[in-house]
Amino acid sequence: MILLNPGPVTLTARVRAALAGEDVCHREPEFKALVGRVREKIARVYGDQPSAGTFVPVLLGGSGTAAVETMLSAIGSNENSLVLANGVYGERMAAMLKAQGKRYEIVSSPWTSTMDIAAAEKALGTGSFTHVLAVHHETTTGRRNDLAALGAVCKKVGVPLLVDAVSSFAGEEIRFEEWNVEAVAGTANKCVHGAPGVSFVLASESVFARPSGATSVYLDLHRHAVDQAKGSTPFTLPTHVTFAFEAALDELAASGGWKSRHAAYVARSSRIRAELRALGVDLLLEQESVYGATLTSFRMPAGKTYDALHAHLKQDGFVIYAGQGKFDGSIFRIAVMGEITERDLDRLVGSLRVALG
Ligand SMILES: *Cc1c(COP(=O)(O)O)cnc(C)c1O
Repeated sequence: MILLNPGPVTLTARVRAALAGEDVCHREPEFKALVGRVREKIARVYGDQPSAGTFVPVLLGGSGTAAVETMLSAIGSNENSLVLANGVYGERMAAMLKAQGKRYEIVSSPWTSTMDIAAAEKALGTGSFTHVLAVHHETTTGRRNDLAALGAVCKKVGVPLLVDAVSSFAGEEIRFEEWNVEAVAGTANKCVHGAPGVSFVLASESVFARPSGATSVYLDLHRHAVDQAKGSTPFTLPTHVTFAFEAALDELAASGGWKSRHAAYVARSSRIRAELRALGVDLLLEQESVYGATLTSFRMPAGKTYDALHAHLKQDGFVIYAGQGKFDGSIFRIAVMGEITERDLDRLVGSLRVALG
């Protein structure tokens, strides 16, 4: 099966083989050495970006949401965050702050719109915010949010930016310094092509100069960072998944890093968009250039249903993704992360032509 949903992704043979490696205890030196290597390799993904190499990598057991929620443990209960939301994942960060009992304001936009950076700039001008939270690639629609513009505002007012980069880490450019980034949350099983089960936060040392704002025993960034700096982990990591993550990080580096991966995604997505355009299927968003590389959202053509399209493609070996929330039934999404060959794409195009032609 070729997975065209936004994670988990189709694994390479090498990553899959690593999942079936030997059993190790997470308290033994061989596993501690693995965690050390994986943390270094996470930090190296954006090693070409100024200051990215000085960020502290923290490996976590859990899905991408666990990483985002752990990242937000860096925010204190007496601090005040500004959340930009134009989709499910921005709104989820606001829900996390609410669950953590922290103060925040949300600048919401319709899911088909850009982030409202003008409103954010106005709010930040009051000087009452300590953090800005935004989603890099909003997987709800596939829009790559304009973090360059938002980050420039953050830099100007001196407020750190915390980024949900779960569906962009290793697939899109992240400019840590220029965007005033203080932390990013990412996961193994999207653009890095690992198996689901581990995720991570890359946080600036400035985060650890402040006390932990954790409201949870498990999702406490400081606690994980302190133990990992000593070569240990506070809790059991999924050992096999961590070995697979190292294999995926090695394959990422060997294949040319995030830039090559980005280019491969752009080529795949461009081909799928062109094919669907030829079949008369419209993009959900206003134009192709606002999408990131990893995923495209399309409007369901009149007379077709998501369920029938999904079933047809699945019969041919492909899993596509439905719309979330208010988009349920009216759109479909095709992601291009994971091990997908040219032959797979040829077959996908043939299958789409039959289903929608
Ligand atoms: C996938 C995703 C998440 C996390 O989802 P999990 O199911 O917890 O892995 C968070 N943010 C974005 C933008 C995502 O695409």
